[in-house]
Amino acid sequence: MAPAQNPISSQHVAVIGAGAAGLVTARELRREGHTVVVFEREKQVGGLWIYSPKAESDPLSLDPTRSIVHSSVYESLRTNLPRECMGFTDFPFVPRFDDESRDSRRYPSHMEVLAYLQDFAREFNLEEMVRFETEVVRVEPVKGKWKVRSKTSGDISEDEIFDAVVVCNGHYTEPNIAHIPGIKLWPGKQIHSHNYRVPDPFESEVVVVIGNFASGADISRDIAKVAKEVHIASRASERDTYVKPPGPRNNLWVHSEIDTANEDGSIVFKNGKVIHADSIVYCTGYKYYFPFLDTNGYMSIDENRVEHLYKHVFPPALAPTLSFVGLPAMVSLSSKIDTYWGFEFTYHLCSDLFFIYFYQGIQFVMFEIQSKWVAAVLSGRFTLPSQDKMMEDITTTYATLDALGIPKRYTHKLGKVQCEYLNWIAEECDCPLVEHWRNQEIVRGYQRLVSHPETYRDEWDDDDLKEEAYRDFATKKL
Ligand code: FAD
Repeated sequence: MAPAQNPISSQHVAVIGAGAAGLVTARELRREGHTVVVFEREKQVGGLWIYSPKAESDPLSLDPTRSIVHSSVYESLRTNLPRECMGFTDFPFVPRFDDESRDSRRYPSHMEVLAYLQDFAREFNLEEMVRFETEVVRVEPVKGKWKVRSKTSGDISEDEIFDAVVVCNGHYTEPNIAHIPGIKLWPGKQIHSHNYRVPDPFESEVVVVIGNFASGADISRDIAKVAKEVHIASRASERDTYVKPPGPRNNLWVHSEIDTANEDGSIVFKNGKVIHADSIVYCTGYKYYFPFLDTNGYMSIDENRVEHLYKHVFPPALAPTLSFVGLPAMVSLSSKIDTYWGFEFTYHLCSDLFFIYFYQGIQFVMFEIQSKWVAAVLSGRFTLPSQDKMMEDITTTYATLDALGIPKRYTHKLGKVQCEYLNWIAEECDCPLVEHWRNQEIVRGYQRLVSHPETYRDEWDDDDLKEEAYRDFATKKL
């Protein structure tokens, strides 16, 4: 899109959340000349990566009165991406050999990611924009501006007016629970992965883990270290699936999905197998959730599709003053190869491996590129298409998804097309495209992860890409 002819204007912008998305958004907005207030309900930056050994009081997180624990990180978590492709483009996530307390592994622990985000905030003086322990409880449009009501820990609330609001509140806190016929009478323990921290409570148990995507794959292995048996129920697997996944554990099985749970403690899988289980762990994902947002009915969430959003960022009727950074996520499995967003869209068929069916995403760089776009549109350097044109684009997209039989709940899962999506936005706002090595590291890392799920974080065959990345960092003199 051609740059707009308008004079550049500075806006007063509220950013909700100081995780990776909120931090980079604040930086890009300030770089563009806007004034920024970041609202963060925690005491520190880092969002999801602030590990808490404490989980929520309700293990399924269904009780609306429970006090929320934001993070879904478990103690053993290591990144599922090589660090060099995870970091922001001008602040690489490289090992800090100068500090012995840091984790220099290529796939480091969650603590290293938090330390990286703290370094990032320090380097760009971002904390001076953040109001900690301040929760946004209401956001509503008022006469072309936005009223933001926030509450501090002392329960004092305040209303302020902003020209624009960018929502960066994360989307891994509100659990999605799969419905199982008969579960109400099933007597065992149930927990969602949001509240999973360590395997110890499952010692010597027979455990069913529902879901075989990122968290399910990791958590089932974590639990298998101490449990008697772990049975993974995988919706993506064929009906007669009953296999041992690759790897050394001999107490781990993958089944097709659960058929019923019964009062006598048994779980019946669609493959006909019956087991008596002590616990069920739901690794069934999360829901988009914006409890503070009142858009006078312009926006809604339908089967986890946030409607309506132009390119997952701008709601046409409220754009550009309301925007969302960080919505798209990873992809799950089917056997289709088709077109989506005008690009080739490949769902991966991995049924011969029966494990880990997800495609990793370049999350931090996505936040960076989306926020550059938001900042540039708000300043008037670039303009969006008309409201009608944006709606037309959205309608076409939804129709394409429908025609391909892709469920609504996958609307924001981009998978392989993520790179094309990001490059499309980058071109819109004239910023650098995603580097070749970064995209290739994701592709090759994914292949390794599928073929060697137990070892992919410690053994690899893409040193050529790693070297290309470090050469790139050196050239850019970062
Ligand atoms: P968050 O980090 O969740 O930050 C949102 C912030 O908003 C929080 O600080 C929260 O306190 C604040 N907030 C929310 N509501 C309010 C409110 N009303 N008022 C004020 N503040 C509010 N990505 C990778 O790139 N690599 C990985 O290896 C990887 N592993 C993952 C493992 C797990 C288990 C999960 C769940 C996700 C993983 N991800 C990974 C994806 C990860 O979510 C993103 O990388 C990223 O950290 C998300 O950043 P965010 O800023 O969008 O959200």
